[in-house]
Amino acid sequence: MRFFKSKPCLFFSTEYFLGLCEKGPRSSFDCNKYRKIRDRLLEESIVKPSHIVEPEPASWDDFLLVHTKDYVERLKDPMFLAKILFLDYVNPFDTDIIEFFKYVTGGTIKCFNEAFKKNTVCFNLGGGFHHAKRDRGEGFCPVNDVAIGVVKLFKQYGKMKVLIVDLDYHHGNGTAKIFEKDEDVFTFSIHRDNWDNINKKNNMDILLPDRVGDNEYLLQLSLYLPDVVERFEPEFVVYIAGDDVHKNDTFGTFNLSTDGVLKRDKFVFQTTRDRGLPLGVVAGGGYGPDSWTLYYNFIKWVYKGD
Ligand SMILES: [Zn+2]
Repeated sequence: MRFFKSKPCLFFSTEYFLGLCEKGPRSSFDCNKYRKIRDRLLEESIVKPSHIVEPEPASWDDFLLVHTKDYVERLKDPMFLAKILFLDYVNPFDTDIIEFFKYVTGGTIKCFNEAFKKNTVCFNLGGGFHHAKRDRGEGFCPVNDVAIGVVKLFKQYGKMKVLIVDLDYHHGNGTAKIFEKDEDVFTFSIHRDNWDNINKKNNMDILLPDRVGDNEYLLQLSLYLPDVVERFEPEFVVYIAGDDVHKNDTFGTFNLSTDGVLKRDKFVFQTTRDRGLPLGVVAGGGYGPDSWTLYYNFIKWVYKGD
C-alpha cells in the first residue's frame, strides 16, 4: 500500500452500466466496463467493499449549474436524449437512460468534493462526458459531468483555480467552451482533432497524428504539463483518463501500448498529486473488450505502487 496522508477514494454505482447496454453506433463500448473494474479491485483485495462508495444521483438542478434551462427541459424527453446518443428504432433504447447520466454525474460531483476536502486522489469509475456544451449535447455526451463537478466545488468551497487535464483521445471541447470566459479554469487537452476553436488564455490544445506511439506522446505530455502546473498554480486538478489512446481501441487511432498508457497516468499523478494537489479522476472514453483493464491498471498502481 502506498503512503497517503488521506486515503484515496472510489465511486461506483451499479446504475453506471445498466443504461449503457445499448446497440447503437457505440456498441463497441463495453457496458460492463466499470463493473469489471470494481469486481477485479475486490477480487485482488486492492480495496475492501466498504471502500467503494455509491453516489447519490445528480439532480436536474445540478444540471442547471452548467446547462441552459431550455436544454435541460429538452433532456427530460427520452426521444431528445436518444438523438444525442444516436439511438433510434433500429437501436432501441431504455427511456430511463437519463438516470445513468444522473448517477455518473453524482459520482463525479462526489469524487471532486472528497478529493478536494481530504486533499487526496479520488476516482469515479465512469464519467468524463467532455463534449457536452451549455446548450447542446455532442459526441455521445448529453451532460458535462466534469463541468458540473467543478462548479459544485466552487459553490461549496468558493472560487478556486482548477486545471482540467484531458487526455482522452478526443478533444475536451465542451468543457473548454463552458469555461471559455473563466480564466480560473485551465483546460489542457491532448487529442487527434480539434472539435472547436477555444478562445481563452488558459487553454492548451496539443494535436497529435494518427499512430502516435508511447515515446512521442509522453514527450509532448512531459514538455507541457509540468510547465502549466508551475505557471497556473492550480488548487484542484481534474484528470480525464480516457483510454481510447490505446492501440487496440476501436475508435481511437493512436498507438499507445498498455505500458505507455500507465506511464501517462503515472506522469499526470506525479506531476500533480506528488506536489500535494488534490486530484479528481474520471474515466473518459475507451472502447473495446479490454479497455477496462487500462483504467484498472492505473487505480491498482495508485493503491499498490509498482
Ligand atoms: Zn474519447
